[in-house]
Amino acid sequence: MARRKQIYEGKAKILFEGPEPGTIIQYFKDDATAFNNKKHAVLEGKGVLNNRISEYIMLGLERIGVTTHFIRRLNMREQLVRHVEIVPIEVVVRNIAAGTISKRLGIEDGTVLPRSIIEFYYKDDKLGDPLVSEEHITAFNWANPQEIDDMMAVALRINDFLSGLFSGVGIKLVDFKVEFGRQYEGDMMRLIVADEISPDSCRLWDMESGDIMDKDRFRKDLGDVTDAYREVARRLGVLRESENPGQSGPVLVSDNGD
Ligand code: UDP
Repeated sequence: MARRKQIYEGKAKILFEGPEPGTIIQYFKDDATAFNNKKHAVLEGKGVLNNRISEYIMLGLERIGVTTHFIRRLNMREQLVRHVEIVPIEVVVRNIAAGTISKRLGIEDGTVLPRSIIEFYYKDDKLGDPLVSEEHITAFNWANPQEIDDMMAVALRINDFLSGLFSGVGIKLVDFKVEFGRQYEGDMMRLIVADEISPDSCRLWDMESGDIMDKDRFRKDLGDVTDAYREVARRLGVLRESENPGQSGPVLVSDNGD
């Protein structure tokens, strides 16, 4: 196969030029990082699981009318997505206090928030993705007021959709992060959901046991990270029982010709 042109390598994904203009290939690596890259590991099979879980969620969002960059999954680790200009803002929606909101505001982990809270973080690794206000976002032209309104409305719809999806399989959606991109078509521009939505970017707690089923297992050295991701995939029905990425034994079989 001809070598593809790499556009960008991030912490957990690589982007390659796509086969047609306006498309790119998103490759899911097994790398896990936390604490602004200070902690790093390779978790065998994580990329395969996140590719599948994110595909499943993006397709679900399309079904409820939320446009995403996802076009189709190409193979175990790659998906074809629309090329967008990433808005340099991470939108976080929280239902239950955990992580930075607990530390910053002194709210005990696990406290149900009075309502879902949206936060914005400026995407800049050198600065450690600082929390920013709408004033910062508009003053520095990272997004305009209309885009902020759109991102907030879509983030809340995603929260409703994901909360329902996960509660149906016995999982509490504590919080998640979503990114948006601008897609240009002629004179038109629209904001669409980009990046990935997976246990790398959500906090997921088992409803019965309270077990952590997301990247906090890695952040907190709880072990069995990919096992937890695999369980999320299994409950969502994304993996067939025989599929077992990241473990010896049966190899992942695709229904997609890969
Ligand atoms: N998150 C993410 N990428 C980031 C920062 C946060 O996907 O760069 C997700 C994180 O997994 C969690 C939510 O956003 O589901 C809220 O994260 P928080 O602000 O508590 O920060 P963290 O503890 O992840 O540093």
